[in-house]
Amino acid sequence: MKWEDVRKSRNVEDRRNQSRGTSFPGSFGRGRSSGGGLGGGLIWLLLSRTSGRMKLILLGLFLLLTFLGSGGLGNLNNSTIYNRDIIPSEEVSVDNSINSTNTDGQTLNASDKEVQFFQAVLATTEDYWHSMFDSMGKTYREPSLVIYTDSISTGGCGVGSAQAGPFYCPADETVYIDLQFYRDLTTKYNAPGDFAMAYVIAHEVGHHVQKLVGTMDDYNSVRQRMSTKQANDLTVRLELQADYYAGAWANYVKQEGLLEMGDIEEALQAAHSVGDDTLQKEAYGYVVPDSFTHGSSEQRRTWFLRGFEYADFQHGDTFNTDI
Ligand SMILES: [Zn+2]
Repeated sequence: MKWEDVRKSRNVEDRRNQSRGTSFPGSFGRGRSSGGGLGGGLIWLLLSRTSGRMKLILLGLFLLLTFLGSGGLGNLNNSTIYNRDIIPSEEVSVDNSINSTNTDGQTLNASDKEVQFFQAVLATTEDYWHSMFDSMGKTYREPSLVIYTDSISTGGCGVGSAQAGPFYCPADETVYIDLQFYRDLTTKYNAPGDFAMAYVIAHEVGHHVQKLVGTMDDYNSVRQRMSTKQANDLTVRLELQADYYAGAWANYVKQEGLLEMGDIEEALQAAHSVGDDTLQKEAYGYVVPDSFTHGSSEQRRTWFLRGFEYADFQHGDTFNTDI
């Protein structure tokens, strides 16, 4: 993608230095999300200053607060049914920061160029969706994009972990991208190229569009009344629509003369590589169709290409057509 001369968005925030992994317990507390909140922090402080039996009592109290603070087992179970890349605003995600070490053990210091790339790609999504919303007589509200490493405290979706991959938080209308994922695209998922990453950003922005037009709200209210299998099917449709929107954006990038040879292949390879069947095969060695939440590799390719071809809202209704 020829992005160097593209306008740079001001909505990209670099929060790579705010890794949560070594933080004071509870210090990033937001509602139920933290380990005991303020009370936990106080006990932690007292713990370091007492000894013997008192210390044991305080430790027990701290563990109890931590457990309650994390929402207990109920919250842990709930978290597993959600989509990897949309963290529902009402729910708090599980803090996995303890386990999130970088696979290569390196400090992830992206160059300024990488940040500029994110700014340029986000700017193209802003220009595209502004024009689309304008044509409907609506106003497009631009999302933010936060670059982070390891884990991050969000504005209403709890703590996001790099292990979850890129995600969109509807509460603060922000796309969160972990830099390690960018590198994993090349090494782990065999989807190299800047356009592969651009596609992922456009997909997450697609979820933001779904929030703005009301699809996300409809999805959240309907899935409450469904079985797990039905809810998964609905989630696949939500995901494929985000892929369709990414394809529509790619069409705009082409119209703007910013596409380079091989870009679409890069996006298709990324769509293929992060399809749930590929991910599940990689993780477990087999595929479980009912548990798909993003769609198969083939479905993702198909809907991205469909968006690239039609680039309108009408052909992107994944909820009322065969997928
Ligand atoms: Zn998604």
